[in-house]
Amino acid sequence: MTRLHNFCAGPAAMPSAVLERAREEMLDYRGQGLSVMEMSHRSPTFEAIAAQAERDLRDLLAIPDNYRVLFMQGGATMQFACVPLNLLGQGGTPNYLDTGIWSAKAIKEASHLAGAHVAGSTQGNGYVHVPRPDEIALSTDAAYLHYCHNETIGGLAYDYVPEVDVPLVCDMSSSILSAPFDVSRYGVIYAGAQKNIGPAGITVVIVRDDLLERALPQTPSLLGWKVYADNGSMINTPPTYAWYLAGLVFQWLKQDVGGLAEMEAINRRKCEALYATIDASDFYANPIDPINRSIMNVPFTLADEALNSTFLEEAESEGLLNLKGHRSVGGMRASLYNAVSEADVQALVTFMRDFERRRG
Ligand code: PLP
Repeated sequence: MTRLHNFCAGPAAMPSAVLERAREEMLDYRGQGLSVMEMSHRSPTFEAIAAQAERDLRDLLAIPDNYRVLFMQGGATMQFACVPLNLLGQGGTPNYLDTGIWSAKAIKEASHLAGAHVAGSTQGNGYVHVPRPDEIALSTDAAYLHYCHNETIGGLAYDYVPEVDVPLVCDMSSSILSAPFDVSRYGVIYAGAQKNIGPAGITVVIVRDDLLERALPQTPSLLGWKVYADNGSMINTPPTYAWYLAGLVFQWLKQDVGGLAEMEAINRRKCEALYATIDASDFYANPIDPINRSIMNVPFTLADEALNSTFLEEAESEGLLNLKGHRSVGGMRASLYNAVSEADVQALVTFMRDFERRRG
């Protein structure tokens, strides 16, 4: 069996140990005589799997008791609509920070419901850094402030948590579980699974319980956080297998990796090796202000764009997959999510140095 070096932005690489465990349990889950895929979501066995997944996620992130953990579908994109639907019931204006493609999509979705106020944007300088704290200006009637912690396409991440006196809402799709953070600073955190949580199909929402009472009356029941909180995230048939796999990933993080502080140390070594390779050469470049460089997504360009397709072809023949940048920005992007190992990154930097020597 050969597992190649997968730098996909999402769905992303999964830890091999998790896939092996899933394979062992695939046909007969722990003597039950059937696969998790074939079980009722109301069965005691699946309920135990779901409860364990929540407990493990709570342990990993040290989620305080006054926060609810929801497992939803629809991806982070559905949360772009859920956020205003669930938080504007007491009036006010949705406030957003704009740092790139994903935050702009969230702003657009909120604007369909209410006029969104952009409380800070770095569009003018090409999104090479995030707004500094003193550049954030909320509207007087702000209902909440939303931001995207890690812009997956731009490779831009916040180096601080905004301090505001309204609920802080954060899209952490591409950075959750990459490092510890303080959940209590937030009102709502959400993340599509397909980077650091598990396979596509499930979305984690962490919401402070007092915020469950603020939904607009017209919120469809499947988009309302409170309905999920009141029904153990099982209003209808949940994506059971994705939920189970997410649970295996949480166990892998706790037991094999040793927790999020250890994961962060590994992630920092990975991205530092890649940024150092980029910065040491005139052949590769990354435009992001160093304090806002993402530890998860590293976009880079070649000095000679004509070499892009050769770079990608040669990389692929070395087993280095999915390095093409997002179609909206071009160039290259290496996503270094948790399941990407230091050996994967070492293989990439060795290839990059060799390519530069031969073609630069
Ligand atoms: N937000 C961020 C930061 C993302 O990276 C993505 C997807 O890559 C999304 C939102 C959209 O996620 P989904 O495809 O789960 O709707």
